[in-house]
Amino acid sequence: MIRRFKIIGSIKTAVLDFIAPLCCPVCSRQLRPSGRCLYCRLPDWRQVRRQLRSDSAGLYLILTGGEYQGDMERLVRAFKYQRDPAALSLLADQAVLTLPEGLCWDALIPVPAHPVRIRERGEAITRRLAQEIGNRTGIAVSSPLRRTRYTKTLTGLGAAERREVLQHVLEVEVISGNLLLVDDVFTTGATFNACRRKLLAAGATGVDLLAVAKTPPNRQGRH
Ligand SMILES: [Zn+2]
Repeated sequence: MIRRFKIIGSIKTAVLDFIAPLCCPVCSRQLRPSGRCLYCRLPDWRQVRRQLRSDSAGLYLILTGGEYQGDMERLVRAFKYQRDPAALSLLADQAVLTLPEGLCWDALIPVPAHPVRIRERGEAITRRLAQEIGNRTGIAVSSPLRRTRYTKTLTGLGAAERREVLQHVLEVEVISGNLLLVDDVFTTGATFNACRRKLLAAGATGVDLLAVAKTPPNRQGRH
């Protein structure tokens, strides 16, 4: 039965590819059947960055798919504001490229958006990304984090202000295992650090970050 569903699923994908092929959000050309854009060279492993950092709670990884500018910025904006399925697909592929071979995580944890903002945007951006990455890697998606109070957008705030705003707004369920937080754009790290602290206190053995893009230093505070 499951096999039948899989066959029906792949026929549906093939038909959709034929009648409504995905087009690259950057150059508008049709994506290859593999989901790549050969003209824009996306996804692009050369943009991938992997950083090992440490703090008093131990070592952690910051994995980013590229700088938030140029083509990557266009892709993120096409996904966030136009819900472009091709942009989501390219971003998920780019995110998967950042995962080092030989490492594994027990769950993907979307960085939580406030419920009000989820309603505004239809669904949480980070949850869609995490699901798409989960489909490609087989890692389960879990959502133990919640924002408890409405916060204004963090756009334009500096690191200290972000820390202050985030300190009291996150709520977490009990969780275990080695976790990979998923975010769209990594800026100062304040959101990640607040989530990481909460997850470690709730029982996680390790928390790393995967963000599809990273704000370049000269643009921090503007995004
Ligand atoms: Zn393209």
